[in-house]
Amino acid sequence: MNIDLSRRSFLKLAGAGVAATTLGSMGFGEAEAQELALIRPFKLATLTEIRNTCPYCSVACGIIMYSKGDVRKEQAELIHVEGDVDHPTNRGTLCPKGAALKDFVRSETRLSQPMIRRPGADKMEPISWDDALDRIARAMKDDRDENLVQFNEAGVPVNRWTTAGFLAASATTNETAWATFKAVKGMGIAGFDNQARV
Ligand code: SF4
Repeated sequence: MNIDLSRRSFLKLAGAGVAATTLGSMGFGEAEAQELALIRPFKLATLTEIRNTCPYCSVACGIIMYSKGDVRKEQAELIHVEGDVDHPTNRGTLCPKGAALKDFVRSETRLSQPMIRRPGADKMEPISWDDALDRIARAMKDDRDENLVQFNEAGVPVNRWTTAGFLAASATTNETAWATFKAVKGMGIAGFDNQARV
């Protein structure tokens, strides 16, 4: 009989087996020990489990985020983050920065919305994502129209936009990275880097 057992499922089952053995040595009866051992793998069963990528560096370790509440209504609370044992890069491990991700996400000082400092103002104020994206698109279009270098001195088409830069994130899939690169280079932006190098 073939059993489709992922590495995570295997570790959960192995963990249940170890727990049962330990509980038995602590004096629990067999029935109680088995019941407790079976509860442990399901301690996160009521939570929503989402795979993601650690945002800190270019190693791009796989993580699993556990949230309580309705994630579709953005009313969920992140309560646990752990390394993804099925991820080929980190195989369940996380460095100290990755292991502290929950505190980073839940930090009261974390920026969670776009901010703007208007001309003449001495402080930042929040604006909506729609307003922020409209303003960014407008500024990019105006700057590109004004500064795009279409030909070099020899008359060869180069389409270089050197007055704008773009900083991408390392916490993306290969497909997202590919699409980002195509979009940025398609606009002619020469200065393109990644947050993982900062
Ligand atoms: S867990 Fe550590 S090594 Fe892995 S991506 Fe995050 S910061 Fe980098």
